[in-house]
Amino acid sequence: MKVFISADMEGVAGISAWEQCLAGGDDYALGRDLLLGEVNAAIAGALDAGATGICVNDAHSRMRNLPPAALAGRASYLSGRFKPLYMMQGLDETYDAAIFLGYHAAIASPGVLSHTYNPRAVTEARINGVVAGESGLNALVAQHYGVAIAAVTGDQYVAAEAAPFCPGAEAIVVKHSISRHAAHHRHPEEARELIRDGVQRALSRVDGLAAPAIALPATVEVDLASPDMAEQATWIRGVERTGPRAVVLRDDEPLRLFQTFITLVYLTRSLVED
Ligand SMILES: [Zn+2]
Repeated sequence: MKVFISADMEGVAGISAWEQCLAGGDDYALGRDLLLGEVNAAIAGALDAGATGICVNDAHSRMRNLPPAALAGRASYLSGRFKPLYMMQGLDETYDAAIFLGYHAAIASPGVLSHTYNPRAVTEARINGVVAGESGLNALVAQHYGVAIAAVTGDQYVAAEAAPFCPGAEAIVVKHSISRHAAHHRHPEEARELIRDGVQRALSRVDGLAAPAIALPATVEVDLASPDMAEQATWIRGVERTGPRAVVLRDDEPLRLFQTFITLVYLTRSLVED
């Protein structure tokens, strides 16, 4: 069994501030330790369930937040900036399951550090009319490769948000968001136990899990922070303006739809105001 772990950071127990998740931040070293603990717990759970190959795709910020030699189970590590499939780089049809670890809620949710890819550009995203966070958008890639998402870890909002797009995914709740900047965390050791057990349980029933099945052709509606961003987004072929700050992406191919969304994210970055 091959398992793909897409590791974000904001949804890890103990993390409630950007200073813990961004290089150069006062508490970044602590944040990295907390992330590593949860990634290794997920690896342990996958090994318990019989995994023979594990890839950890670092999916947060500059995407090199983990010390490779400290990864458990001799998991391979995919790191670094500019990955065409971004948080899903490395996934292909040879994998049996994917785990979304340390995920956070979509922008507009009161979940701690909530955002959707770029908090200063995307103010909401909807797939087929349903609000989607990063889990939903990333599910488009899993759908293309026919890989089930076995488990999602984070706060109390994350799994519910993923549910419409990640059928049957095990919800592993490691903290309770109080606001966008505060959370009540499980003790890291308890969070790691929950993750190890949850991942093991989820993977032991992987044969009964279905890959995402988002109805096609699908739409991704994106509300942006400024009209300039919406204008710029329409320079991408197939992107249509639907309002002063709103565009819609439409495609019958889930991977291409995801790639169009990612292109929009990269492009609108140039217009983000400090
Ligand atoms: Zn992140």
